[in-house]
Amino acid sequence: MQKHLKRAGHHVRSGLTTDGFENHVLVRAAIENIDPSDLAHGFHIRIVEDLASLGIVFDHFDDPAYGRNLQRFSNVGNALMGALSAAGSLHFSAARLPVDDAGSAATPREERFCIGGWLGATCPVCLASAGSFFCEQCGHHFEPEEALNTVSRRGRIVEWSENISAFLSISGKDRLLRAWDDIAVESSFLEIGKRYVARKGQQMRLTVPGLHGLAWNSRHFNSRQILFSYSSLLYAHSLYCGHKDTEGTGKPNPFARESDAFLIGATGLDNTIPMLVGVTGCALGQNSFRPFDRIFFNHFLRLNGSKFSTSRGHVIWAGEIARIPNISVDVLRVYLSEICPEEAETDLVSKQLVDRYNAILDKMSAAIDRCTESINATSALAGCQVDSAMMVALDHLYEKQCAALSLDCLRVSQASRPLIEWVDHLDGTPDHQAAYTWLMGFSILAWPLMPKITGALWNWLGHCGHPVAARASTPSSQRSGAAPKIDGRRLSVGDIERCLPGKIAA
Ligand SMILES: [Zn+2]
Repeated sequence: MQKHLKRAGHHVRSGLTTDGFENHVLVRAAIENIDPSDLAHGFHIRIVEDLASLGIVFDHFDDPAYGRNLQRFSNVGNALMGALSAAGSLHFSAARLPVDDAGSAATPREERFCIGGWLGATCPVCLASAGSFFCEQCGHHFEPEEALNTVSRRGRIVEWSENISAFLSISGKDRLLRAWDDIAVESSFLEIGKRYVARKGQQMRLTVPGLHGLAWNSRHFNSRQILFSYSSLLYAHSLYCGHKDTEGTGKPNPFARESDAFLIGATGLDNTIPMLVGVTGCALGQNSFRPFDRIFFNHFLRLNGSKFSTSRGHVIWAGEIARIPNISVDVLRVYLSEICPEEAETDLVSKQLVDRYNAILDKMSAAIDRCTESINATSALAGCQVDSAMMVALDHLYEKQCAALSLDCLRVSQASRPLIEWVDHLDGTPDHQAAYTWLMGFSILAWPLMPKITGALWNWLGHCGHPVAARASTPSSQRSGAAPKIDGRRLSVGDIERCLPGKIAA
């Protein structure tokens, strides 16, 4: 999406964060007996490397809970909570929370609550096995006292204790529903949001008792409270990215009310309520910061038929595939785009990956080689004339790809189709004009998916910068250097299987 928008001439800035305060970090840190911040930061570094190995990089990718970032994070969190309070969108109420016997007499009361990753339960809506505050099956968000069959994952629940937290309360009929309409939320995710509001109203938890997190104080509380990872804290992550990007530039934070930036967010199915109610609700509930203009959701991706499971070591693996010696990351990216789980769960199956990867690699390499050989056989590009019939076809395919990557109905899984059609469009032995037109068209159509080979071809053809649709036909300098090739080899199923978590049975 980022490259698609840049290709169309937009000024795009991107940011991503990891949540070092996520409760599951605490759970894992307690098991491994290490400092939660260090544990989270170790994962952060591996995630940055993992995405970078797939060519996914951001203008900012921080761990806001770590080191010097924390002050900025704390400032935006306090600014948000202050704005919500000033706008009258907070209410304070006592919720009954389970307390377990895992601690000792010396354990602070905030850490005796069996919440977050410590809590196992049955979802009150779909009756699936769930935990923490969410059901991964149906996306519902529940309070511990609403859940069924609650158990402690570190001991035994011994009592339920009243704890006062801050909750978001949005006034005005159907405000969330209207906001979701404005940001064109897709129907399957919209249903999850509507079901939540029908059951629980336009409200959501904003703080939880705790010591490890962004603290926020109020005279109403009867314990220390920290921002909740799935509402106020999640929005604070976005505000943090915006703050970081504009600091010192004289421009407003893109999330500030006065900014004219178009804000695009993306997340997984499990964050549907956090984004639709938590983040959008926090944006509607005060007058300093704006909501996202679009939020894109994904379903889950299975691995050889199994659900991904953090406990089975599925967390970080994409980079393992990208680091197979001599793999073409460009071609891998095309395959991953094609199984993007937009409308339903999809499955990454080793054999299918290998077959599709090899087919794309063979087909595209052959087409690129035929065209670069044709161009190399002539002394110059003869003024770089384009083939006008091919340009008509290219325009049509570009429009088709733009529709697949539309902000109103994003279908990354369909983005490669016009590209494959363009590859099929090349027949026989192209003359230098057809060869030039095809390579230039390929660079534009494939750039969002295959940045490495397309960037190299674009520059080889005499264009500067990255492929831009509006500069399709006019190279600024002469072609130079050796003809670029897709640098990668064919794969075997064994290459992939060696990268996957060893415990998985296909
Ligand atoms: Zn459920």
